[in-house]
Amino acid sequence: MTNKLNVLMVSSEVEPFAKTGGLGDVVGALPKALNKLDVNCIVIMPLYKCISQTYKDKMKYLGYIYIDLGYRHQYCGIFNLVYQGVKYYFMDNEFYYGDNKIYNDNDLERFAFLSKGAFEVAKYINFKPNIIHVHDWHSASMAGLLNDYYCHDEFFSQTKCIYTIHNLAYQGIFPKEKVLDLLPLNANIYNNTKTINLMALGIQFAHKVTTVSPTYAQEILTDAYGERLQNLLNIEKNKLVGILNGLDLTTYNPSKDKLIDYNFNKNDYQEGKKNNKLALYKQFDFDINNIDETPLIVIISRLASQKGMDLVLQIVERLLNEFAVKVVLLGSGDKNLENSFNNIANRYPKQFKVVLKFDNILAHKLYASGDLLLMPSAFEPCGLAQMIALQYGTLPLVRACGGLKDSIEAFNEYTLQGNGFSFNNYNDNDFYNTIKYALGIYHKKNLWNQIILNGFKDEFSWGKSAKKYLDLYLDAIK
Ligand code: ADP
Repeated sequence: MTNKLNVLMVSSEVEPFAKTGGLGDVVGALPKALNKLDVNCIVIMPLYKCISQTYKDKMKYLGYIYIDLGYRHQYCGIFNLVYQGVKYYFMDNEFYYGDNKIYNDNDLERFAFLSKGAFEVAKYINFKPNIIHVHDWHSASMAGLLNDYYCHDEFFSQTKCIYTIHNLAYQGIFPKEKVLDLLPLNANIYNNTKTINLMALGIQFAHKVTTVSPTYAQEILTDAYGERLQNLLNIEKNKLVGILNGLDLTTYNPSKDKLIDYNFNKNDYQEGKKNNKLALYKQFDFDINNIDETPLIVIISRLASQKGMDLVLQIVERLLNEFAVKVVLLGSGDKNLENSFNNIANRYPKQFKVVLKFDNILAHKLYASGDLLLMPSAFEPCGLAQMIALQYGTLPLVRACGGLKDSIEAFNEYTLQGNGFSFNNYNDNDFYNTIKYALGIYHKKNLWNQIILNGFKDEFSWGKSAKKYLDLYLDAIK
């Protein structure tokens, strides 16, 4: 018998199986890091059609159960895969997860199935969790289900729930009747509302609430960042903790990364980055003359106003006109932004490339070959792109908010400290002037290299963050 802490992690996204953003990165990395701390952490997620066949071929079919959602009696096949030492359990249902998307129009029911089903799967596989750790609105209802329903089941009577907010902007607000039709939640507390906000439910009923950086944990208590949950968060603030995400350094390691053209490390990064840049310039038909003097600015981001993409749109043409720079934007999302960026790229084919899709391989190549990564977010719970960029010697230029403030220190020419560039006020002038300043430093190679070396020293591995989660779990079960 072991006395390991049993942690059940439930999420709509888990790298490398299904990811659209940082949530997938976090749930992909945290279980591994927890298990290194002698925790017994398993993960439950949907068996989406889009999960690569390579993984599906290695999965083991364990059996099936039926999950009741209101009057619906739904089949759930259970598959298991041990990947990098972590046990993953996949819930199969063709009706819910049979199209090619991670999210679609039926998300309330699809993730109600995941949330209620995860309790049933845990029982089926006989995994008695000390902690259930749920993420964003998709699995938030598990906090309410534990409080209202499953706590009466002896199997979960000792279980505590931790709820992590990755982005307060996506709350999962649905008509009350629909939610209560699907899930056995205590209807009495919703007498005076027409809707149920699943994120609010998670905040209210979890034993601890975390968010993904200390600064964001403070910001969301304010009117400016609270997304109308600030009152609830202030009431519950004693259980709110900010823990900065780490990075999966096995995935984001330029010396071993199989997705980039040339591997490099801290000692040969100048040559390595140049070779990657050359390959990318050839791929995009950019002029390779004067490559050392032509900074490559990269943007790897969802195209959403949260990410400051409207600021990028405001300044990009001016930037292309005034400076000998190349800019590559990889992202997708808001159609207006996509069209606007495309129009500009068509007018500046020698300087500006826009790739409007989710492309993991190109993302890695851009991190490896870029000089400057722009991340002028309006708000940023944590942000991973800036941390990834630092591993690859690409300097982040960020707006100082949320996790960007907790991870990027603006370069100080006098002390020679800092790992990037930052500005405070969300406006195009401050953003543009900071880029201008950064481009000035780019041509002072000794300073630029100093910042890259400063960035290499930063430790964003999951080890430190996982230890903080473990302490929180232990506190919750006390
Ligand atoms: P968010 O979760 O808000 O989208 P993060 O910075 O926390 O932002 O995480 C984004 C993750 O998704 C990073 O790993 C980034 O490299 C990746 N990413 C974003 N857009 C794309 C894209 N179009 N193609 C490939 N990877 C992308």
